Amino acid sequence: MKTPDAMIPDRGAFWLTHARAPACLLEAGLGSPDAEGLVDVDILVRDGVIADIVAAGAAAGAPMRIERAGGLVLPRLVDIHTHIDKGHIIGRRPNPDGTHWGARTSVAADRENHWTTEDVYARMNFALRCAYAHGTASLRTHIDSLGKQAAITWPVVERIRAEWKDRVTLQAVALFPIDLALDDEPQFRALVERVARAGGILGGMTFLGQAPGERSRAALERVFDAAAAHGLDLDFHVDESDSLDARSLGQIADVITRKRFRGRVVAGHCCSLSLFDDATRNDMIARVAESGLAVVSLPMCNMYLQDRSRGRTPRWRGVTALHELAAAGVPVMVSSDNTRDPFYAYGDLDLLEVFRESTRILQLDHCESDWISLVAATPAAVMGLPDAGRLRVGQSADLILLGARTYNELNCRPQNNRIVLVGGRMVDTTPPDYRELDATLGMG
Ligand SMILES: [Zn+2]
Repeated sequence: MKTPDAMIPDRGAFWLTHARAPACLLEAGLGSPDAEGLVDVDILVRDGVIADIVAAGAAAGAPMRIERAGGLVLPRLVDIHTHIDKGHIIGRRPNPDGTHWGARTSVAADRENHWTTEDVYARMNFALRCAYAHGTASLRTHIDSLGKQAAITWPVVERIRAEWKDRVTLQAVALFPIDLALDDEPQFRALVERVARAGGILGGMTFLGQAPGERSRAALERVFDAAAAHGLDLDFHVDESDSLDARSLGQIADVITRKRFRGRVVAGHCCSLSLFDDATRNDMIARVAESGLAVVSLPMCNMYLQDRSRGRTPRWRGVTALHELAAAGVPVMVSSDNTRDPFYAYGDLDLLEVFRESTRILQLDHCESDWISLVAATPAAVMGLPDAGRLRVGQSADLILLGARTYNELNCRPQNNRIVLVGGRMVDTTPPDYRELDATLGMG
């Protein structure tokens, strides 16, 4: 059956009938979910807004019905952890060996030599066009903010966020080693003020080879105090390592609890958590749950980077203990992380790809069925965007319509035939051509 996308009108009202939606993203009371947690609904779109959602069949006889024949309907999705300032440099600066160290040194060299206003703007804009074409509504990016780079990139963030505000909600996080707060206080203070002025989020990298101790606690406390003084949320890079010394996660949780920090805090990566013995892991997860921390796993990037050494087959998938964190009540999410750069050579900011790969890498199948929240309602709530990542009457009709009727059909194919609606109107789902970046990258 051909998907009747040509019938979606540009204005006025229409019903999407017999669409299948995740119950976890709907208001309750629309019928009982199937084994995958999906409910059949009819959705009225009027003047770009979701005007009604009813149990499937209730709109029979209404004018302007577009039959979806059981095809999934999702809200536009939410990508809470990306690095669009690094994106697409892979051709100019490949990772020499695919390791985390190789990634850090290659990105540093590329940044030093190439990251001008024009270069960063062109690559970030290209990245947002990819995300938008795939159906992303909101995206948070970390921004390399050490030394001269902060003064170059943060003005680009402010400009591009304004240019994109009607299409993608952009949030930005300052990324720097947290030791900066101790080693260079003037630079740290200036950065905090720059981030606050931009309405950004404070972050930092917490494990660079040393087990956490008094020094890392002091650095963390300075970062938390700065965030509290400016009313900023926090989003850290945490324990992206297979080292059993990588135990910053527990220290962050303890600082939140002791300081009664009121902002939202996200911990990204937390790879080593899955390698600890059960007692250590359970203790750390309990402290995380008590603190209110949210955790985001980056399955594609971490499977690429972790447990890699030439000539040796990887034994570990690189991901955090996501099932155990979820069972303890910790808000958990998955996200894109890097795209086409030395940290991850692939990716296209496509959250349906992230969901598909996460399902396989983290074995999200054969268990609870509301994992779609990992790229929808949960990151939206953590980003302070209550209207995003859900299907609710009164919201902008920002939807992804799929031919796939089940999670199996969704996860078996790349979903290149998806329809993306923004404000009820179809948008072009063709991602930009790589050739458009040739001049920026000095290639072609
Ligand atoms: Zn990251």
